[in-house]
Amino acid sequence: MLGFLPDWKAKPNAIGDPFPDPSSAGCSIRRLSGALSFSTLNLLFPSVYNGTMGETPVVLDTERQERADQYARIRRRLWAINLLLNGLYLGLWAGLGWAVEVRQAITPYAADVLGSTPPWWVELILFAAILFGPWTVLTLPLDYYSGYILPHRFGLSTQSLRGWLSDMIKGAVLGMIIGTPLLIAFYSTIRFDPKSWWIWAAGGYTLVTAVLATIAPILLMPIFFKFKPLGEEHSELAERLTLLARSAGTHVRGVFTFDMSRRTRAANAALVGLGRTRRIILGDTLLSEFTLDEIETVMAHELAHHAHKDILLSLAIQTSFNFLAFYLSAVMLNWTVHQASLTRADDPAGLPFIALLLGLLSLLAMPITNAFSRWRESMADDYALEVTHKPMPFASAMTRIANQNLAEVDPERWVVLLLYSHPPLKSRIEKAQRFSSSTV
Ligand SMILES: [Zn+2]
Repeated sequence: MLGFLPDWKAKPNAIGDPFPDPSSAGCSIRRLSGALSFSTLNLLFPSVYNGTMGETPVVLDTERQERADQYARIRRRLWAINLLLNGLYLGLWAGLGWAVEVRQAITPYAADVLGSTPPWWVELILFAAILFGPWTVLTLPLDYYSGYILPHRFGLSTQSLRGWLSDMIKGAVLGMIIGTPLLIAFYSTIRFDPKSWWIWAAGGYTLVTAVLATIAPILLMPIFFKFKPLGEEHSELAERLTLLARSAGTHVRGVFTFDMSRRTRAANAALVGLGRTRRIILGDTLLSEFTLDEIETVMAHELAHHAHKDILLSLAIQTSFNFLAFYLSAVMLNWTVHQASLTRADDPAGLPFIALLLGLLSLLAMPITNAFSRWRESMADDYALEVTHKPMPFASAMTRIANQNLAEVDPERWVVLLLYSHPPLKSRIEKAQRFSSSTV
């Protein structure tokens, strides 16, 4: 909810889900898995993986583009509804004094059950459960609609209801396992240093994000997907990547494929991990539908994020944002205490106030972080074109993504400015075409 959990996937992916999945703020693996696509490609291109398909022009399916526009519009609406409900819910807790009343009721109740005054962190966990529990239940229908019904209706999802439910439960359990100690740690900083806690909290948050990004590929993502190194059957791809990496004077720890097809027909790729866990991951949906040349351009794009140190850079930007956000939270908590709504800054009843403020700040920062991301993504595209010198396969890879993932190629300007972490596919395809004509 509202970005309490750090984004442990620490992104850059080749395709980019154009806007946050309403059902999965904070759990971006579901963004990778659930959001995307459907393919008539199986019918149009029956045997793709033969390396000669690059010569067949891949054309944009106009009928699917209409569906893509429709799908994107519905998802944007759902995202906005979720956001409004989220704000309203927290607003009620903060504005109507529910937070203070509930917190006051918890202490005697917990003392009754435990037989003595509960430690502060027990009160905190109880309060958080009462605050976020009903929210999870209330938004379940919306999650079900946007995460299961809608992608099925658009022919994107390949997941059974059982599989979807299991993902939801795993996500919730993981959220609790990671979130609970973080919440206690967060309040510990306020208790430890009521004046300058925000410095500790922001520093700690950055550290946790870095640790999560490091362990994600080996500990967290395997909870949802099966990863395996590119094997014998993909030895040519592995060879091409080694050559690419060598020509770029860099190296990655490995290239893995994962079973996206168990959830979606969409294709995607990403650079994940930090340090020793850094790796490129390719969806099996990409491997099965794209030509060797096309996959090479996608890998080159991911390699660019590695060469440009984009994960470290976005971590640095996130850090500056964290300091500002936690500083403003400290100012707001002081103000709330002055307004006599809270007893102290470390009063758990301040939680909805903090969640509301952090959510609002993330929302305000979104156009800025997206603009930054689009800039880095555009650089990665330039790099991919320069290193591979394969503009036409690059363009056809982007076209395939539009068709297969039901992705809008030419969204409205305001949509791009506010919500897009990647340049729209149309401009990426045009860039490749310009590169092609400039090098002929
Ligand atoms: Zn990228």
